[in-house]
Amino acid sequence: MTEPMVRAEQVHKAYGTVEVLKGIDLQVQRGEVFCLVGPSGSGKSTFLRCINHLEKINAGRLYVDGDLVGYTEKGGKLHELKDREVARKRRDIGMVFQRFNLFPHMTALENITEAPVKVKGRSKADARGQAMELLERVGLADKAQNYPSQLSGGQQQRVAIARALAMEPKLMLFDEPTSALDPELVGDVLDVMRQLAEDGMTMIVVTHEMGFAREVGDALVFMDGGVVVESGHPREVLTNPQHERTRAFLSKVL
Ligand code: ADP
Ligand code: MG
Repeated sequence: MTEPMVRAEQVHKAYGTVEVLKGIDLQVQRGEVFCLVGPSGSGKSTFLRCINHLEKINAGRLYVDGDLVGYTEKGGKLHELKDREVARKRRDIGMVFQRFNLFPHMTALENITEAPVKVKGRSKADARGQAMELLERVGLADKAQNYPSQLSGGQQQRVAIARALAMEPKLMLFDEPTSALDPELVGDVLDVMRQLAEDGMTMIVVTHEMGFAREVGDALVFMDGGVVVESGHPREVLTNPQHERTRAFLSKVL
């Protein structure tokens, strides 16, 4: 069996005395669209932040692409990765947030070429060519020279996706990417994500868009209070939830 893209084994995370993740076990397979749903405060963002090296877990094991997050294992002992090594690992993971946080003083094109040039050392011409292809892919080739303030929220979010893709990640994390958008702009962003899924990208998507989860998702985990309450194929969980907490949540978002 091939190693999953993400493997969490009894992952615990606390902020001070507040336990936020209370033993998360899950696996995200390669090429899968993995939907993470649950009420506000259940620990979804924290879990994504742990995967992306933005938080350290307190107990358990978390692997991305077969490697322990934050550590190397030598002779049965764990050694914390140096900042430089963490930065290298993080390049392989793209993240898209609820708020678009593009660089406001850069055009769409510059937002996308920044990291490939500065971090990966690509030539400017090369990075621009790639950025134009990505803008084409997200339907915004004509907005290359626009600044974020000259784009709608949905367009900014599509640029943010293109910017993440420019680093050629092996895993994309989406944290409620459409929650801050006006309803009429949600569809364009979901279409881009659907296309990305069809192209085979491994994606973890925190979302309240159950239509997307049902149509595009390969797996769905329902989290509440820092634990996985239930999981399965999205259609299965959404049509036939086994737990009262899942039913209560779904009755609010469906
Ligand atoms: P979700 O994304 O599911 O809404 P979060 O992961 O953002 O949940 O938060 C889970 C819990 O952790 C919440 O109770 C939140 O207040 C708490 N929390 C999140 N980040 C921090 C932090 N940096 N310091 C202290 N508590 C935090
Ligand atoms: Mg969140």
